[in-house]
Amino acid sequence: MVEGTELKKRIRPGIPLREFTTFRIGGKAELFLEVHTEAELAEAVALAQAEGLPWFLLGGGSNLVVSDQGMPGLVIRNLTADSEVVDAERLSIRISSGRRLGALVELAAGHGLTGLEPMTGIPGTVGGAIYGNAGAYGRSIADLLVAATLLDPATGRIFEVAPEFFRFAYRTSRLKTDPHIILNATFRLSRGETSAIRAQMEDVLAQRHAKHPPVGIGSAGSFFKNLPPAPGETRRRPAGEVLEKAGAKQMAVGGASVFHKHANFIVNYGEASAADVRALAARLKEKVQALFGIGLEEEVLYIGS
Ligand SMILES: Cc1cc2nc3c(=O)[nH]c(=O)nc-3n(C[C@H](O)[C@H](O)[C@H](O)COP(=O)(O)OP(=O)(O)OC[C@H]3O[C@@H](n4cnc5c(N)ncnc54)[C@H](O)[C@@H]3O)c2cc1C
Repeated sequence: MVEGTELKKRIRPGIPLREFTTFRIGGKAELFLEVHTEAELAEAVALAQAEGLPWFLLGGGSNLVVSDQGMPGLVIRNLTADSEVVDAERLSIRISSGRRLGALVELAAGHGLTGLEPMTGIPGTVGGAIYGNAGAYGRSIADLLVAATLLDPATGRIFEVAPEFFRFAYRTSRLKTDPHIILNATFRLSRGETSAIRAQMEDVLAQRHAKHPPVGIGSAGSFFKNLPPAPGETRRRPAGEVLEKAGAKQMAVGGASVFHKHANFIVNYGEASAADVRALAARLKEKVQALFGIGLEEEVLYIGS
């Protein structure tokens, strides 16, 4: 176990969070610490709790709009990578929450395990994906998770849970209202054919490249949640459809614009502030409400002062 004092020495003040978010937006973290093991993560949280500091756990920063005023207290960046157990008999993988979701997808493919291919190309960490029940092409994290090791930040208790704990629903989990930290997670997959797995991964990636902003253009993925299915339907209606009908693709505020290929992406071509993004999102919501009586709900999370 790393001593709190050793970890304390690694805390840095005034670190710009824009560097750690895919939107490339956000003010400074008052204090910033990168953790590399699950023990360090638990220690960092205990440290913040003991000092009475507000704290925030940052994954890949790919679902966030961080305020221009930044974050008070300690931002803990999760780079944990000490668990990695592939059980070929049980067809399962246990992995630290700070690993990239893409690394998990790759690991599964490398062992001829199928199930994660629809998640190819989703940025961020395994922990962030569980928190928001990330998914694509009809598959979500909840479909594959079989267990997780959690830390209760209030008590420091570390315990194993089954997926039911998370009360997963569309792009959400219990963790949004009942804060717990995921230290590691176990996924159950099926035996597959490596070449078929790789072909599906490439196919998914090609589809994503065709409609998503290229690397280098800031975004946090789909900005609003898709809409509940129409009566008699099972699939959610893409929020992008109503946004497009509302003329979203022509809308911008300051440096924040709606992406020309996908009306549910707000993009930062370089100079956008969090305030610009929030103002544009408010205008989009107003327009869709006024035209169609639909209340859009953000998929991205607003955080910070
Ligand atoms: C180009 C692009 C495409 C995207 N496509 C998709 C898509 O197809 N499907 C989809 O679902 N999402 C998509 N996203 C959104 C985003 O990638 C996901 O929501 C992702 O799972 C967020 O993970 P993260 O590690 O970046 O979390 P962050 O953005 O860093 O954090 C999000 C929340 O998770 C919490 N959190 C992070 N780690 C942990 C942990 N270990 N324990 C507890 N809480 C934790 C944070 O505290 C925060 O509240 C896309 C984003 C981009 C930029």
